[in-house]
Amino acid sequence: MNGSIWVLIEDQDGVPSATSLELISAAHNFVEKVSGFAFSTNPTGLSKALEHFGVERLYAVTADQSSLPGVVLSHALAQVLTQGSELPRALLCAQSYTGRDTLARLSVKLDVPVLTNVVNLIEVDDDLRAEHQIFGGEEVASSQFTHPGLRLFGVRAKSFVPKETPSKEVVIENVTVEGIGLSDSAKVVSTHSEERLGPKLDEAAVVVAGGRGLGQAENFLFIEELAKLLNAAPGASRAIVDAGWVPYSYQVGQTGKTVKPNLYIAIGISGATQHMVGMKGSKNIIAVNKDKDAPIFQIADLGVVGDAHKVLPKLIEALKQR
Ligand SMILES: Cc1cc2nc3c(=O)[nH]c(=O)nc-3n(C[C@H](O)[C@H](O)[C@H](O)COP(=O)(O)OP(=O)(O)OC[C@H]3O[C@@H](n4cnc5c(N)ncnc54)[C@H](O)[C@@H]3O)c2cc1C
Repeated sequence: MNGSIWVLIEDQDGVPSATSLELISAAHNFVEKVSGFAFSTNPTGLSKALEHFGVERLYAVTADQSSLPGVVLSHALAQVLTQGSELPRALLCAQSYTGRDTLARLSVKLDVPVLTNVVNLIEVDDDLRAEHQIFGGEEVASSQFTHPGLRLFGVRAKSFVPKETPSKEVVIENVTVEGIGLSDSAKVVSTHSEERLGPKLDEAAVVVAGGRGLGQAENFLFIEELAKLLNAAPGASRAIVDAGWVPYSYQVGQTGKTVKPNLYIAIGISGATQHMVGMKGSKNIIAVNKDKDAPIFQIADLGVVGDAHKVLPKLIEALKQR
């Protein structure tokens, strides 16, 4: 395809988020020129990381850091896209809070439709066709825009694999936004980082996840202990997040995180579609469930039909002895 594709780069502690890098590599499947667009206090640091992923230009938005990122980014994007001479063919955003907020606001500002929940992009007739999950991930629909101009896509994490390219300097272009208006009156007054045990859930090579079959909140300690022994990230089904046993940041699934580890261990999790959509891409899946007909066994490579309260302590004991 001719032209360029822009990617919304989300700054996570001064580096691009894992999904931003996935989207850059996705864009390179179709065009040579890929630019980033970010709201960051450290564009130089961000651009250093982007040098290895073939980003030509980084539009760095400077604005009041207490503003909501989606408000600032959508305003800045609309500003640059309506003033710029060379428009991109598409803008790819992660299906994250910031990505969704930015896309929704930008769609209204530019009167351009959005395709969300995208899990794959295919080039058809010099345009991009999106495959996106519907009905909680049970079906994949294929959609294509019919209007001319810019395409807006919200892409699910882990849909593409980030690929490094030969290092090349990134040109930083500062974008100053002013006069956002009333939508900028909501401000972030404080932030806190959730405490985390072990590796990040969506980046871990091994995930040990627990569900309602654990019986009670205290039993999640077994999941955490097993995770620690395997240098894994602990995860959870929505049932136990909703029950308040663990924070939302642990949730795997349609409305939680998408994970693709080498090994996913599901303990006391039934395997509802909304859970499986977030973990079925794992390389190996081990499930422990006392119900031999639990749907999770349909996608498990190794299934243990048994009581989690017996299996978990034995597994922990065996690992400790090794
Ligand atoms: C719009 C929407 C979005 C959703 N998003 C998500 C999401 O992101 N993530 C998610 O997980 N869910 C999501 N859900 C909820 C989902 O539909 C299920 O309700 C949820 O995943 C069930 O969690 P669970 O498997 O822990 O509980 P359950 O379905 O209650 O399953 C518990 C399992 O534990 C087994 N069990 C019981 N006792 C034991 C024992 N002693 N030893 C071993 N096994 C035992 C049972 O046989 C059963 O299979 C969503 C639902 C909706 C409607």
